[in-house]
Amino acid sequence: MNAILIGPQGVGKGTQGEIVAPRLRLARVVSGDLLRAAIKSGSELGKKAHEYMNRGALVPDELVIGLVVERMRDIANAKPPLAGSLFDGFPRNRAQAERLDQALQGIGEQIDRVIDLDAPRAILIARVTERLTCGNCGTIYNVRTKPPHVEGVCDVCGSTDLRQRSDDTVEALAERLRLYDEQTQPLLAYYRERGIVREINGDAPIDLVTQQILTALS
Ligand code: ADP
Repeated sequence: MNAILIGPQGVGKGTQGEIVAPRLRLARVVSGDLLRAAIKSGSELGKKAHEYMNRGALVPDELVIGLVVERMRDIANAKPPLAGSLFDGFPRNRAQAERLDQALQGIGEQIDRVIDLDAPRAILIARVTERLTCGNCGTIYNVRTKPPHVEGVCDVCGSTDLRQRSDDTVEALAERLRLYDEQTQPLLAYYRERGIVREINGDAPIDLVTQQILTALS
């Protein structure tokens, strides 16, 4: 099973991916996390990507695709083997979607399901600007609705480096949402032709959204 979570910034792809992937024995392929790891490592690729990400622009396709293909290779070699992959943040435009289809075809696989997760814009903007991310392990919190158990301390790794992501500012978010509407949302039509898209309302309690995603992927 290979599935993609498609949805605008703040809709809950990361939160849901973290919960759902281990339950279905799927590997998460999160392009934003791969890019942030590249930045943290100080690699040349990370340096190039950083500047695009900070202003909410898309990172050039060849950089992102390289990271995703490398991750897919690691997943294919995982021991014990996994049941498939759950993509989040990738593909984000038509060129990436076609490249992903090719890469999967090359290993005799395909995209089996696409989850279209959506919520009203006002909710998304509130969630993203209230979001805190652990600078160490990437766990996501919301200052209002999902705070860490101890203020300022990550529940998962104990780091005190909880911060707002540099691209979660109002300006960068506006640009990210604009690019979502322009390039990513139209991908749903590309997958709808194959009859594999399932629509889920992301403006609902976390547990309910999880149940619906699990049903859609089963
Ligand atoms: P969000 O989905 O909330 O924008 P991500 O963590 O997925 O957050 O992405 C953060 C940033 O990383 C994006 O704004 C973009 O600059 C870059 N990025 C992530 N995935 C891709 C991709 N598939 N193609 C190009 N750029 C990407």
